[in-house]
Amino acid sequence: MPEFAINKITLNELSYEQAVEACARHGFAGITPWLDDLKHLTPAQARKVADDAGVSIAGFCNAGLFALHGKGGMDNAVDAARHSIDYAAEFGATTIVTVVGGLLPDSKSIPDARKFAFDGMVRIAEHASNTPVRLALEPLHPMYTPDWSMVGSLSDANDWCDRLDNGVGLTVDAYHVWWDPDFEVEIARAASAGRLLSFHISDWLVPTGHMLLDRGMPGDGVIDLTAMWQTMTNAGYGDYIEVEIFSERLWKQDPDAFLAELKNRCNIAFPA
Ligand code: ZN
Repeated sequence: MPEFAINKITLNELSYEQAVEACARHGFAGITPWLDDLKHLTPAQARKVADDAGVSIAGFCNAGLFALHGKGGMDNAVDAARHSIDYAAEFGATTIVTVVGGLLPDSKSIPDARKFAFDGMVRIAEHASNTPVRLALEPLHPMYTPDWSMVGSLSDANDWCDRLDNGVGLTVDAYHVWWDPDFEVEIARAASAGRLLSFHISDWLVPTGHMLLDRGMPGDGVIDLTAMWQTMTNAGYGDYIEVEIFSERLWKQDPDAFLAELKNRCNIAFPA
């Protein structure tokens, strides 16, 4: 029986408290908030909001983005990631989405950016290994390489996990990896290493209007979500199907109408 969770970005116009209530109303069993959503709450207060509504903690966003503060900003980036990991641990999350970051400012060097990001990963993986929170490295579609992620495929993400060898697992986001001819092979590889931690879903619209903010509702695009889910479950994944939709268009819809339709689409794409 698939269980569904909502990544808070999907309900971008709502507060964390409103989003938790909306999840409970529409039968989404879990929520994954972003640290920014919880700035006004201690981890214990944030946890109580979810507990009182009967909504589980599916995950936490995020850690990484090492190049954001430039070459001299590694310590700042690592400190920010450690803070997120510590907050997630107190909040009761067991995984944190980890995105490694893109090119260094004023540089076009992919090797430099990859080395920089990997060094950052070593540092925060060490920190996370002393907490109950596992880093869930998320490869992003290669179109996000300059800004967000030097890791653009599952095979590369698996390689990084192998090299880090410190409990680091994977977030598999359908939007980022649906195109990958090695999807089944790399999912099996990740599963055999015990690192399939999260599964994010949305749909790839054709044409797409914006690289970041035009993801589709399941069923409106070209991703075979059902087949991806089958590959995941065949490999042994049994955790949440987490809806993560960045969409300026869908964010404007009435949240209750949107969630009712979303649940409907989830039930079609992922039948019990
Ligand atoms: Zn994602």
